[in-house]
Amino acid sequence: MAGVTFKNVIKSFGQHVVVHELNLEIPDGEFMVLVGPSGCGKSTTLRMVAGLEEVSSGELYIGDRLVNDVPPKDRDIAMVFQNYALYPHMTVFDNMAFGLKLRKVPKAEIDQRVREAAKTLGIDHLLDRKPKALSGGQRQRVALGRAIVRNPQVFLMDEPLSNLDAKLRVHMRAEISRLHRRLETTTIYVTHDQTEAMTMGDRIAVMKDGVVQQVDSPEKIYHSPANLFVAGFIGSPA
Ligand code: ADP
Ligand code: MG
Repeated sequence: MAGVTFKNVIKSFGQHVVVHELNLEIPDGEFMVLVGPSGCGKSTTLRMVAGLEEVSSGELYIGDRLVNDVPPKDRDIAMVFQNYALYPHMTVFDNMAFGLKLRKVPKAEIDQRVREAAKTLGIDHLLDRKPKALSGGQRQRVALGRAIVRNPQVFLMDEPLSNLDAKLRVHMRAEISRLHRRLETTTIYVTHDQTEAMTMGDRIAVMKDGVVQQVDSPEKIYHSPANLFVAGFIGSPA
């Protein structure tokens, strides 16, 4: 496992600065929620950790390793997206096994890791199905399973629950928290949902217009907001 450190990280697209001098240390094993309104730069921040966006300036570390120039496939991370991004023509098993096959993990080990992850997520009876034969919640579990079989140093989750209905969302929130308590993998979880942030985060980073306004525990954010924006954002429902 490893933490993630941003040192003066700036991201711009042309003239447009999207992330301003981000300084953030996420210790090993922490569940960090990055929360803020749409367009504030959450996904871009996460995508820099994944290597899907280049850092414009500053330093980004995974553990002790400076990763600015490390391609995505050589970073020990796994990302879960809002739209699941499952391969429609592959079975659940093959979807979960794909990343391991790519990394030339031996077949017997792939088999064992996929079955174990599927069991953890309660989808071991679905391994032969194709994504189209699954419910939204089951698909989201497959997407999570595909990430956990990789046993990465860092999980990156970008609004993973926003396509689910309200009831399932609450259920999956608890399930992801449980998974984190069990695996203790450093996680950066992006959401625009205040309740999700407050219930899931060990700490929360509140972002506005590419600037992190406050990084604190949910209690501190709630009781001692750093400014009016944080107070209003956390105080009022989405
Ligand atoms: P969030 O995830 O918080 O909704 P994003 O990180 O997706 O925000 O976007 C932050 C800002 O960066 C937005 O203004 C968006 O339009 C802009 N942006 C994101 N990706 C690109 C890109 N590839 N090219 C230009 N602008 C982008
Ligand atoms: Mg986003």
